[in-house]
Amino acid sequence: MKERMDERMKNKKEELKREVVLTAKRALKEGMVAGTSGNISVFLEDLNAMAITPSGYDYTIMEENDVVVISLDGTVLEGHLKPSSEWKLHAEIYKNLPHVKSVVHTHSPYATSFAVLHKEIPVILIEMVPFLKGSIEVSPYAKQGSSDVGSNAVPILGRKNACLMANHGVVAVGDTLGQAYINSIYVEDAAKIYHMALTVGTPVVLTEDLW
Ligand SMILES: [Zn+2]
Repeated sequence: MKERMDERMKNKKEELKREVVLTAKRALKEGMVAGTSGNISVFLEDLNAMAITPSGYDYTIMEENDVVVISLDGTVLEGHLKPSSEWKLHAEIYKNLPHVKSVVHTHSPYATSFAVLHKEIPVILIEMVPFLKGSIEVSPYAKQGSSDVGSNAVPILGRKNACLMANHGVVAVGDTLGQAYINSIYVEDAAKIYHMALTVGTPVVLTEDLW
């Protein structure tokens, strides 16, 4: 009985690691990350740990075995590579927001340009309400790789499914990896459209009474 359960847990973990790799490759293909930037993780409930993309590793050659399993204090439980240098961002989110099961961090260009400006993206498209839970706020700047990057974003991510991180990029969360990734796409889509609208006029913001 126990063996069967262990086997099931192992299969689930392998399946999630595969999903991390497929999503990372998709993110590169879809221009959501450049070079080796960005990182993706899923929470492994049974282990109170996460499966996360490795640090500075080429997405095009990434395989399941390259995904690193670490506990929330950074101890490597499985894997031959170093975890993403931004693992503390993911750990802070999982520690503080138990409803989050996956974290996708990108440097998608349109959204990141608003992060550089410290400029919130208001609700300009109705999709932003169900997917992102409203406007896209900016979390205060913190040094890359520090746990402050995560703790600064947590208060926003307690209310929203994504935020911009000042002078850094985007962090999106979800109850599945698929959902977190889609949320990161909606952030970039809203940012791109907002940017284009700003270049030709003054965008009309959808106020809450119109949602
Ligand atoms: Zn980053």
